[in-house]
Amino acid sequence: MAGKSGGPAIGIDLGTTYSCVAVWQLYRVEIIPNDQGNRITPSYVAFNETERLIGDAAKNIVAMNPTNTIFDAKRLIGRKFSDPLVQSDTKLWPFEVVGGENDKPMIVVTYKGEEKQFVAEEISSMVLTKMKEIAESFLGFKVKDAVITVPAYFNDSQRRATRDSGIISGFNVLRILVEQTAAAIAYGLDRKSAGEKTVLIFDLGGGTFDVSLLTMANSTFKVKSTAGDTHLGGEDFDNRMVNHFVQEFKRKHKKDISNNPRALRSLRTACEKAKRNLSSMVHTTIGIDCLYDGIDFDFKITRAKFEELNKNLFEDCIRHVDKCLKDAEIDKGSIHDVVVVGGSTRIPKVQQLLQDFFNGKELCKSIHPDEAVAFGAAVQAAILTGQGNHKIQDLVLCDVTPLSLGLGTRGDEITVVVPRNTAFPTKKKVETVTILDDQTSAQFPVYEGERPRRSDNILLGTFVFSGIPPAPRGTENFNVCFDIDANGILTVFAENKTSNRKNSITISDFKGMLSKTEIDRMLKEAERFKLEDEEHKKKFEERNSLENYVYGVRDTLMTTELASNLPANYAKKLEDEIKCAIEWLDEQKMAEACVFENKREELQSIWDPVITKFLA
Ligand code: AMP
Repeated sequence: MAGKSGGPAIGIDLGTTYSCVAVWQLYRVEIIPNDQGNRITPSYVAFNETERLIGDAAKNIVAMNPTNTIFDAKRLIGRKFSDPLVQSDTKLWPFEVVGGENDKPMIVVTYKGEEKQFVAEEISSMVLTKMKEIAESFLGFKVKDAVITVPAYFNDSQRRATRDSGIISGFNVLRILVEQTAAAIAYGLDRKSAGEKTVLIFDLGGGTFDVSLLTMANSTFKVKSTAGDTHLGGEDFDNRMVNHFVQEFKRKHKKDISNNPRALRSLRTACEKAKRNLSSMVHTTIGIDCLYDGIDFDFKITRAKFEELNKNLFEDCIRHVDKCLKDAEIDKGSIHDVVVVGGSTRIPKVQQLLQDFFNGKELCKSIHPDEAVAFGAAVQAAILTGQGNHKIQDLVLCDVTPLSLGLGTRGDEITVVVPRNTAFPTKKKVETVTILDDQTSAQFPVYEGERPRRSDNILLGTFVFSGIPPAPRGTENFNVCFDIDANGILTVFAENKTSNRKNSITISDFKGMLSKTEIDRMLKEAERFKLEDEEHKKKFEERNSLENYVYGVRDTLMTTELASNLPANYAKKLEDEIKCAIEWLDEQKMAEACVFENKREELQSIWDPVITKFLA
């Protein structure tokens, strides 16, 4: 059976640095390669004078176009511009980020000579559109339905924002699935055992770190607890190395490269490569020609130095593992398997610290660190659309909330309604009363976080309940219900018992979230970008086709003996015409596809009869 919209449903791992797409076909999951044959695609979008590039094409030219090549959008998603983490990231990125309406971070680029601003959801939606195209060209069908994954530690705003990205790219988002649960599916699908198994999934990727503790019994996957940091991963390890080398360069050459985006970008790319090398070698060299002011960059780094630079970050990972076990009240000796996923788990020090923490227990590295999440998402997509065989049909997934959710009460306090690590979907109710005499309206601020004081938590939104019948304080009651759906997304309802009136907070009411109108506008814009990309592609195809034709005729004339068949006056005339056509081509930088097409047809109508008669 196909997805609701006719075609098959796919699973997408929308990663900070790389994304991966998979589909369930016949009896197994297929990881879909992109147009370059790669099974993972960089989550990069580049803008230039003439076109928009996504994936490998964008990453390949990043050194030439650093200020307009956007990456790491996942680190911005669902966050405010004033967030200290956003502030520290923007200092290291070569592209510009400014504060927009409702404190939303806006990414600034120059596209086709004009300044444009995008929210992170739009950039992520462009990456998702690319993944959609990759799937469509592999399957030969249009794809509408998708399961998209998010880190377990993504909060409500970040989950909503990811779902919005999916909507903007034209998907029917079947489910927002937690990455570690997806990885657990990949791990557990062929390891069904009769008894219950407790498994720890340690997922250290490019931008995020998550650890989840699950129990697996037959086909039921139950998450017991999650911990992690939405801002800890390979990019941070790269940053540490970049900062180190900026200082080293300053010390050696007395030059500061920190304000030169192009030099920083080249250094970052080289550091990432060196980091990967250091996973298999104990030292490596970084060489970049003419990095800054004509000075070559030539430095060595050892694995020990890299480990020292990142010592506290690696140790943070282990602290989160400890917290996850404590939350679930499970002793480390009771863990059957420690499963590692995410590209950064290839770092030997990370593996060693984790293994030491589990008293030398062998880590389970059998699932593919880059593909396991998309694999699990594809299985979930197949389940939700009734595809797949008996192997997956009876699979049951049970996720938990990463953060506590509650209501702001009098003073600076919070009443927790849904404690952290509560399994969802779920509905939890709480009763409140009016706090003033003759109070006719009440505010319900909804918070997310673990701290006892309101001001230390994240305010998701506030809704006002008006029309309360005047009465002495404490007599008007409200039933407030927190409803978390299967995607982990929250809706809050309130009901006044006396007036029988209801009110609820919806997505668009959440401050800083995209409203329905904004999503609609972005959807239209995404369509327009898609058309522009297609037009640009067509233009290059037509230009190529014309160039091939003109040069083909010239080569035949210059290099084959057949040319001697041509009467002398014809040969001269043809030569001049070819020269003119080449000059014309050089001048046509901004022409539309149809201009090249018309020109080719015009030349073919003149030259083809000559070719057929004398040169064929
Ligand atoms: P993911 O988000 O799971 O795709 O992980 C991407 C991150 O893994 C990036 O920061 C990569 O630099 C990092 N990575 C990939 N391969 C290696 C490796 N061999 N050693 C260290 N880090 C790696």
